[in-house]
Amino acid sequence: MLIVFIGPPGAGKGTQASRLAAELGIPHLSTGDILREAARQQTPVGQIAAKYLGSGQLVPDQVIVDVIGERITESDCEQGVVFDGFPRTLPQATALDALLEQRGTPLKIALSLDVPEQMLIDRLMARGRSDDQIETIHKRFESFDQLTHPILEYYRQKGLLREIDGTGTPDDVYAQVLSHWKTPPQVLS
Ligand code: ADP
Repeated sequence: MLIVFIGPPGAGKGTQASRLAAELGIPHLSTGDILREAARQQTPVGQIAAKYLGSGQLVPDQVIVDVIGERITESDCEQGVVFDGFPRTLPQATALDALLEQRGTPLKIALSLDVPEQMLIDRLMARGRSDDQIETIHKRFESFDQLTHPILEYYRQKGLLREIDGTGTPDDVYAQVLSHWKTPPQVLS
């Protein structure tokens, strides 16, 4: 069962993805968390990632695709994965399809969380992670609009996209996640 969450910074992907993953008993893979941990441990990938993380820019596609490609071959991912923050560009989305084709397990659903920009800014400022500075936040929004937004159309055309209003409480949003989950796109049923 392979699921992706898509949304701008602050949309609540992490909260929803971790809850759904726990309920389904499969890993929640947050590429932001994976890259921050690699940077903290100063692994080779982490040293590359560190150059991008603080600036609000995306790490190069091939770096993250390699990390994910390896991670999903681990045994805990056999039953599926909930991706959070990946894919984030069209090349990442097509690379994920290629990886999943190799495994023989296609993507099940792409859940997009929609939240107006001012609410995102308020949430990020309240969260206060080290990259949650107003300038970096604007760079991350720009990356989202230019690089990530096109993957919504990509998944829409595949009949996999489900759009969710992310403005409510975590419980409200999760109820919507589950409702889409229980009525997956027709093409899959
Ligand atoms: P947010 O969604 O709030 O920006 P994340 O924790 O998902 O937070 O990501 C933090 C940073 O990690 C991003 O700004 C980017 O630099 C990097 N990153 C995470 N996922 C990816 C990815 N799939 N491709 C490239 N860079 C990524």
